[in-house]
Amino acid sequence: MKILTVVGNRPQFIKAAAVSGPLRERHEELLVHTGQHYDDSLSAVFFAELGLARPDRELGIGGGSNTTQTARMLAALEPLLEQIAPDAVLVYGDTNSTLAGALAAAQANLAVVHVEAGMRSFDRRMPEELNRVLTDHLSALLLCPSDTAAANLKAESVAGRVEVVGDVMVDVAMRRQPSARADERTPAEHGVRGGEYLLLTAHRAGNVDDPQRLRALVDLIAALPAPVVFPLHPRTRARLLDAGLAGELERIDGLRLTEPLGYVQFSALLCQARAVLTDSGGVQKEAYLAGVPCVTLRANTEWVETVAAGWNTLVDLDAGAALAALAAQPPSERPSLYGDGQAAERCVQAIGAL
Ligand code: UDP
Repeated sequence: MKILTVVGNRPQFIKAAAVSGPLRERHEELLVHTGQHYDDSLSAVFFAELGLARPDRELGIGGGSNTTQTARMLAALEPLLEQIAPDAVLVYGDTNSTLAGALAAAQANLAVVHVEAGMRSFDRRMPEELNRVLTDHLSALLLCPSDTAAANLKAESVAGRVEVVGDVMVDVAMRRQPSARADERTPAEHGVRGGEYLLLTAHRAGNVDDPQRLRALVDLIAALPAPVVFPLHPRTRARLLDAGLAGELERIDGLRLTEPLGYVQFSALLCQARAVLTDSGGVQKEAYLAGVPCVTLRANTEWVETVAAGWNTLVDLDAGAALAALAAQPPSERPSLYGDGQAAERCVQAIGAL
């Protein structure tokens, strides 16, 4: 089969890195990079580190509002799909690139395969939630990381075939984590020692676009026990500058601000952190997998199993709740969630049966 894969942002490069290898052993794959993430630190570094093939096409569509960006991607994908004429279009996760790829394909009567189908926060104010719900309803094959995701799809009566395959990001993380744990250099380069620091990421629109929420985020960071390593996403950096809060953040004692990191360095910092604070979906499950307690800076999560297992606490932007969560002991049990590291292989098998 000829599969056209559409990717555009950081977590999608990681997911595609898991699936692309086994997919190319049995099928022809063409990779389209929409350009949603164009910064080298969010894009090129992942292709290099994870061995992902160079994109066959680059659309160069970054920036703009969600609606405008999605519309531009649709307009660029329509002639491309006609020209390439794939048998199916493969999309990952919940970004504008996901929705644009799925909608352009469905309009062209092509089968859509959605990896990471069925995830729900049930918060329709999140652009990601709109993207994933719509993509699931456009898909012919819905590949889910968990039984909860499959149950969500059943409740919504999606038309496509649903399969639980596990999480493809877990495949990559499981392979990386042994060396990440043994890497003493990376924490040292950031001026911290294993087990003694907090790792922080924050970039969701709901946390950084509204100046009042951003103010609350800076206050929360200032209340955290040092040292804290914070790789600053370009979106967050831009919003901090707009709101006049960048200087205040830089002056917080014990805060080590860095550029966004490549996967290898970030995994080393994650695996050796005392705890992680994040509003990222991917980071919540990677922390769980690494046995590192997670404090999620959101009021809800799609990765509900990590919360139920007691390893992840939702605190939104409440600094007191974050400190209480950091003081709590993690549970002694950590059941295996989201698969066994073979999710990509199952995805490829399911695609072969399309
Ligand atoms: N990540 C990274 N460098 C960083 C921060 C995160 O490599 O500085 C990785 C992280 O390990 C995870 C992924 O990026 O695999 C998460 O991406 P992001 O938070 O952008 O997206 P989300 O998962 O929230 O959709």
